[in-house]
Amino acid sequence: MNSSLSFIQQIDAILPQTQCGLCGHRDGCLPYAKSIVEKGEEANKCVPGGQPVADALADILNRNKLIAEPSVWPIQSDGRPQRMKAIIREDECIGCTKCISACPVDAIIGSGKLMHTVLTDLCTGCELCIAPCPVDCIDLVEDIQPIPNDEQRLLEQNDLRGRYYAHIQREEKQRIHRKGPVVRAEIDTELFAQITQQSQALPTIEINQPTIKNPIVTDAKTTIELAKLRTQIKKLEKQLSVRADENKQHQLNELIQQLSVLQEDAS
Ligand code: SF4
Ligand code: SF4
Ligand code: SF4
Repeated sequence: MNSSLSFIQQIDAILPQTQCGLCGHRDGCLPYAKSIVEKGEEANKCVPGGQPVADALADILNRNKLIAEPSVWPIQSDGRPQRMKAIIREDECIGCTKCISACPVDAIIGSGKLMHTVLTDLCTGCELCIAPCPVDCIDLVEDIQPIPNDEQRLLEQNDLRGRYYAHIQREEKQRIHRKGPVVRAEIDTELFAQITQQSQALPTIEINQPTIKNPIVTDAKTTIELAKLRTQIKKLEKQLSVRADENKQHQLNELIQQLSVLQEDAS
């Protein structure tokens, strides 16, 4: 494997996989890992990771330790910010489904015009579903579950990574055929696809290329010729609709044949 790609994965393995974008990378943890490795971006910007993640990254990168970006939430006993969970006030939900597309780890269930629910165990408290909700019926509450140990955290991160990649693959499949606006349209799917090609544990991301049709360019001479033929055909069709005529019918067939050849050449 490309050594830079493998180092990006090592950095990504330390990041919480909340995919919240608070580090400034709206497409999640992997693009931040890439920027740390390839652009030398400072490694203290992961807000939910807090000081423990900033320090672990400084160690692996052999850089000076920096103070982690502060969170709006108090710090837990493990040095990371308080874990949060989203809860939908279900009696106020209008079933618009906007929160489903916004959730990077597919932690919300529901369908059009029906009440939606957060699968609390899967929710990371990333807050990405809150802004898109048109009726403001999603609250954040403190996670009251015990703080995970290192082993549990690793399992959780692997699960979140897999869920996020499955989410990207679904969005990518819909991207080409979708008529309306595309959620997370700027996502660097190439990078995610590259990573999934190296890993059995992650759902494969395949990039869909739109089919580009050659534009039909018709020169002026052909355009005039086509117009002439169509006019002659219309005239003959009109005459033949009034009275049958063998010669005119033969003439019409020839003109239709010529029109079809010219149209094929022009396309
Ligand atoms: S969890 Fe950390 S690294 Fe991942 S997107 Fe959020 S702030 Fe960025
Ligand atoms: S339900 Fe909301 S807060 Fe929870 S993970 Fe999904 S988008 Fe983030
Ligand atoms: S965005 Fe709000 S109103 Fe729409 S389905 Fe989600 S919770 Fe319900």
